[in-house]
Amino acid sequence: MNKGFEVLPDFERFSQVDDVFSRSWWDRSIRSDKSERFYATYRRPLTMWRKANGFTQRDYALRNASWHVSDVFTEMGEDQGRRDGFLDPLSMLRDGPEERVDDLDPDESARQIKNVATVFGADLVGIAEHDERWVYTERFSAATGEAKPNPLPDTVSSVIVIGQAMDQDLIQTAPSALSGTATGLGYSRDAAVLLGIAQYIKNLGYEAVPSMNDTALAIPLALAAGLGEYGRHGMVITPEFGAGLRFGKIFTDLPLAHDGPVQFGVKAFCEQCNRCADACPARAIPQGEPVPVALNRSGIKGVRKWSVDGEACFGYWSKINSDCAICVRVCPYTRDYSKPWNRWWRRLAGTRLRSRMLALDDRLGGGRRLKPTEWWRRG
Ligand code: SF4
Ligand code: SF4
Repeated sequence: MNKGFEVLPDFERFSQVDDVFSRSWWDRSIRSDKSERFYATYRRPLTMWRKANGFTQRDYALRNASWHVSDVFTEMGEDQGRRDGFLDPLSMLRDGPEERVDDLDPDESARQIKNVATVFGADLVGIAEHDERWVYTERFSAATGEAKPNPLPDTVSSVIVIGQAMDQDLIQTAPSALSGTATGLGYSRDAAVLLGIAQYIKNLGYEAVPSMNDTALAIPLALAAGLGEYGRHGMVITPEFGAGLRFGKIFTDLPLAHDGPVQFGVKAFCEQCNRCADACPARAIPQGEPVPVALNRSGIKGVRKWSVDGEACFGYWSKINSDCAICVRVCPYTRDYSKPWNRWWRRLAGTRLRSRMLALDDRLGGGRRLKPTEWWRRG
C-alpha cells in the first residue's frame, strides 16, 4: 500500500451508514436546517440567492446543470428505493450474452480495457486486485434511513478504477457555487464513462458492476490501482492532474493484470507543506504526521493516515451552500502538466529540492483564487 496510507492490525471495514453524507440523512448531529438548505440548492431554481461573487443565480444555474446527467441516473430508480451512483451501483445496463469471450490473456485484456476506457472518455485508468477490505459492510438506504446489504458477485476478482479530471479553472474559483460545476461535471462524465465500459465488459460475457460513491471506498482503490499517492488533504494526488479528479470503479471478473501502487515523493512533500491545512476554513485537515485515529464515526478505524474531519468539512459545505474545493485549489500539485514547466516542477518536488519548489510556488502565487466574475469574463 501507499506510504501515507498504512493499514494496521486493528483495521475495521467501513459501513456506508457512517459516511457523513449518509449521516446527513439520519443523524441529527449532522442534519440541520443548513444541511437541508445545502441539498435544496441543488434542485430548486434560485431566484433570490446570495449576491456574493460566485454564489449568484447564474453560478448555481451552471453548477446544477453540470450535475444533471448524474442526477438523471440517480433519480431514475428512486421509486424502487435506489439512488444509483451514490447509494447503489449504476444499474442501467443490458444483460450480456451467455457465451463468454474466453482464453483472455490478463495482460492483453488489461491493455485493451485501458484503451477502451480512454476511448470512452476516462482521463486515467488503473486496475487493482479486488480487496474486500474497501467494500462497504453495508449500504445506506435513503428510502428507509437504514442499512441494507451490499452484494457483489462472488466471482469478482478485479476493480478497474477510472479518474475524471476536474476543470482546473473552475476549481480555482473555490469556494463558490461556480467551482461546484467541476464536481458535477466530474460525476456526470463518470456516470457515462463507467456505464459504457461496464456494458462492453458485459457484452464480452463477464460481470461488471459500475460504481461511483456507492459500494466501496474509492481512495484506497485508486491508490492500489497505481493512480497516485495519498495527500494530507485526504485525496489521491496523481502525477497527471494533482488532486483534481473524481474516481469511479468497475468491479469485474474479466481476467485482468493488476497495477501496483506508485510513489513520486508526495508524502515527503506533504510533510513540509501545510498549505491545505492552513487554508481549510473548517480546520478539517490535520497538521503533523499521519496518525491511526478515527476522528469520529465517519472515519475509518485502523489506518494510519492524515484523516480529514468529514463532519467539520460537511459543516462548512452546508454553511456556504455548495461543495468546497479550497484544499484542491491551494495544493501545489494542482497544475496543468501539459506545460513543460509544471512537469519540471513535479520532478523536482519529488527530490531534496522539495522545500525550494514549495517556496517557488508560494512566490509565484500558486493556489490563488480566481474571482468567479473573472471566470465568466474569460469565457
Ligand atoms: S473541502 Fe474545504 S472544508 Fe473540506 S477539507 Fe477541503 S478545504 Fe476544508
Ligand atoms: S496542499 Fe501541500 S500538504 Fe496539502 S496535500 Fe497538497 S502538497 Fe500535501
